[in-house]
Formats: sequence, structure tokens, C-alpha cells
Amino acid sequence: MALTVLNPATEEPIAELEQAGVEEADAAVARAKAAYPAWRAVAPADRARLLRRLAALVEENAEELARIESRNVGKPISGARGEVGMVAQVFHFYAGAVDKHFGETIPVAGGVAATFREPLGVVGLIVPWNFPLNISSWKLGPSLACGNTVVLKPAELTPLSALRLGELVLEAGIPEGVVNILVGKGSVVGQRLIEHPDVAKVGFTGSTEVGRMVMQGAAGTIKRVTLELGGKSANVIFDDADLERAAAAAPYSVFDNAGQDCCARSRILVQRSVYDRFLELLVEATRGVKVGDPSDEATEMGPLVSAAHRETVASFVEGEPVFRGAVPEGPGYWYPCTLVEATNDDRVAREEVFGPVAAVIPFEDEADAIRLSNDTPYGLSGSIWTRDGARALRVARATEAGVLSVNANTSVRVQTPFGGFKQSGFGRELGMHALDGYSEVKSVFISTEG
Ligand code: NDP
Repeated sequence: MALTVLNPATEEPIAELEQAGVEEADAAVARAKAAYPAWRAVAPADRARLLRRLAALVEENAEELARIESRNVGKPISGARGEVGMVAQVFHFYAGAVDKHFGETIPVAGGVAATFREPLGVVGLIVPWNFPLNISSWKLGPSLACGNTVVLKPAELTPLSALRLGELVLEAGIPEGVVNILVGKGSVVGQRLIEHPDVAKVGFTGSTEVGRMVMQGAAGTIKRVTLELGGKSANVIFDDADLERAAAAAPYSVFDNAGQDCCARSRILVQRSVYDRFLELLVEATRGVKVGDPSDEATEMGPLVSAAHRETVASFVEGEPVFRGAVPEGPGYWYPCTLVEATNDDRVAREEVFGPVAAVIPFEDEADAIRLSNDTPYGLSGSIWTRDGARALRVARATEAGVLSVNANTSVRVQTPFGGFKQSGFGRELGMHALDGYSEVKSVFISTEG
């Protein structure tokens, strides 16, 4: 069955693709399996050189990749350029990491024990539509660096950048079969990858609901899994914070990528003593977010990814919000920046909206802030705004989340581990930590006795 890919800003078709089914998924796994012995045998320096060449090709084709991503996801072109820049950095980083992820020798009686990092084999990578190329690279970089071969399944809605990346992989000289891109439905080809006996691991990013199915499906073959799932992160503003800075930054921590971001700080917790003042500043800052044509250099927020998703997002807003922004008229899956006052028990504060809707919630003191921040099944990210360094550390240590920032709203860096606590998943992407998820530790004892 053909798949029609749309531009969410215009609702116009931009590509027609053949969709893979179970047979094609099996063929992709077979190609990856056949390519594995030769790929794992490539000398580390040569594997590094190939990854570096891929990074260079991403840089050379950056504008084209950014435009593909912007048209297919509805992302502002400026943001898409930044994301493609990160993709190149990711491949540079893992090119450098190939020969720096090594084993150890361990003192034991009667000989020497050594550990080796071995690749897993064929890995299945299932990625979502919100950051298609970025998240693909976070999984591809460490997979390839460790010597695995890959079947990558992009989301049905946004397969175009992964397909172009697949061409660049071959142009870089990475052999045929090492990276296989599979366009098809999650419930068909994704499910097949999860259950396939020749797939050693699944690296998944997406909803907690599907993450649960990945774990269940993987149990049949005891597959390794890395799960990067949803979030409901808190942006905690204490009364001693630089309120102007915190308020100016807050809209971009939830409305970036139109809120379709697992790290979105969609619960803004504000100390009651500064609540009114902060809310005033926040509304002003949100009014300044430039929403419109993603191809316009000045645009800061584009449309949502699909009509169905817009319906879901809209269902979270009941009653009159404290602020609702403007959106362009005409076609496109637009949804305005929206601020609602809420309690932490409201649906908008409990569930992942994945759209430009932020819940503003008051708290009393430090203990209350920590309690509310942790009162969620998720634990991915979050921010703490205060001028008190000791408090920042106390709150950071007490917060049940994998990636935190103090007086900033950033979650993702190429060099640092990224991943969740609780139902936001487990395993870490990025940095040297990601390599642990794409390799096994083998211990070998060598006797030194006569
Ligand atoms: P999904 O979790 O459904 O999709 C993520 C990926 O998983 C896609 O490639 C999808 O394929 C695939 N998939 C879907 N069903 C299966 C399955 N049964 N077996 C294997 N793979 C599967 O997310 P949605 O796109 O539907 O978004 C729904 C919600 O999930 C969002 O509103 C948001 O709350 C959350 N989400 C979180 C993300 C994050 O970054 N943590 C990213 C995206 C969504 P396909 O789309 O091709 O069917």
C-alpha cells in the first residue's frame, strides 16, 4: 500500500512511498545479518573514518536535510538547521568514540581477567516523528561505532530525512546492508523488528504506551531494549530566581517544536510569593513567540504534525486559558501557544500533551516544589531556577528525572547522557553512556599457570 507523506504546514502531499510489510522487514533483517560479520571486523580506525565521512556529508548536505525536515515535520527552518548541525556532531562524536570504548583488566588469582566490548549483532531502531533525523542519529551513531548493523524504522508521518540519510550512509562508503531504512507501519514492521529472532536489540523512542508493547514483545527473545518515552517535565521557579530571565526562557522550553518534545517543560511550577508577577512576565514572553510559515527565517513555532494530533492536543484545554496566542489562517495543522492555570491533579498536568500547552501551577516552598515535581509517572527532564546554589543542588538531587538543568532549559548535548527515570524509560542515549547500550561486556580469563 502506498504511503502519502504530507507537509503539515500546507496539508499538501510531498511524497508517495511504497510501504514495507513483514516480508520486507524480514529481508532488511537478513541483509543486516549478512553484513554484520564484515562490519564488526572493520578495523576501529577505519570504522571511525567512515563515520567521520558520514558526518562531513551531513554537513555538506545540511541545508537540503534541514529543508526536508522542515517541510515534513512543519519545523521552523532555523530550528531544523540546528538539529542537522547536531546530527553531524553526533557522527563526529561517535567516530571519535570507536576506539575509546574499551575493556579493562581485573586482578584475579591464577591469571588475568580481561573484559571486551562486543557488538550485539543486528539492532532495530524505531524512531518517532518529532525529531526524526536527530533521534535517528542518536541511535545510529553508537550502534555503528560498536560494530552493529542496523534496521532503522522512521515514523510513517516523517520518513523523508531518514531515507536521504540512508543515501548519505552509502555515499560515505559504509557498506551495503550495514544500515537498512524500512518505511512502514509501526504496528506491522515495528512489531516484526521487536519479535524477530535475529534482532538482538531494539532502540525505541516514542510513547510510553508503545514502549510498554516493545518491552512485552522483546520478552519473547530476551531482546535488549532502550526506551526513551514520554515526559511531563517541571520547570520550577523559586522566588529568588532571576524572574525576568526565567520568564523569557520558559515559553521556548515548552513551545519549541510546537511542544512536540518529550523534554517539554509543560508544568511550570511557580513559588506562590512570586506567582502573579511571574505569570504576567510569562504571558508577555509567550505573546512574543513568532508562529507561522516554517520556511520563514524568523518563525519560532510551526504547526502540529497532523490533524489527528491537533485534535488530541485540543482535548486538553477545557475552560478559558490565561493566554491563547494567534495562528495563521488557512491550511495547516496550527494550534496556538496556550497557558492554563492548573493544579497538579488536572489532566493537563498529568498526561503528556505533546503540543503547545503549558500548565502553570503554584507551590509553597522547597519541599512542596519537590513533591509536585515528582508527582508524575514520568521522569525525563526538568529545570530549576534559583540564585541559591545549595538549593539548586538539593532540588536537583531530589528530583526523579534523568536530565536536569539549573537556570537554563536545555536537556540534550552530544556529550552527556540522555534518558529517563520511571515511566520515561531506561537506558541512556548520547555521550559515552550510549555505547553501553549497544554492546555487551565479555569477560575472558587467561590462566598464567604452567
Ligand atoms: P508512537 O509511540 O506510536 O510512535 C513512535 C514510533 O513507534 C513510530 O515509529 C511508530 O511507527 C512506532 N510504533 C507504533 N506502534 C508500534 C508498535 N506496535 N510496534 C512497534 N513500533 C510501533 O507515538 P505517536 O507517534 O503515535 O505519538 C503518540 C504520543 O506519543 C504523542 O502524542 C506523545 O505523547 C508521545 N510521543 C513521545 C515521543 C518522545 O519523544 N518521547 C515521540 C513521539 C510521540 P508509525 O508512526 O510509523 O506507526
